Amino acid sequence: MPRLVKYWRAVAVALLPLALYFIPRESFFEHTHTLCLVHCLTGEECWGCGMSRALMSLMYLDFESAWAYHRGVVVVAPVLVWLWVKWIYRLTK
Ligand SMILES: [Zn+2]
Repeated sequence: MPRLVKYWRAVAVALLPLALYFIPRESFFEHTHTLCLVHCLTGEECWGCGMSRALMSLMYLDFESAWAYHRGVVVVAPVLVWLWVKWIYRLTK
């Protein structure tokens, strides 16, 4: 694969989180619908419910809300950042 294509792919992946800013923020925080299968089927929240809202709050540097939505964000967010950086690194090799 040409080197230039590799770098453009890496740049695209690096800018991927910015795409989340174009999604209306309210759509993550309104409680009218959910993507959680467990919540849809049982009406109960599962162990992962709130993580999307927590991660989005973190992206907007709202640490207090992120913690309130899901405390597991302190583990999941660094793992996601690590995977994202690793993905970018692998694209540039
Ligand atoms: Zn859930």
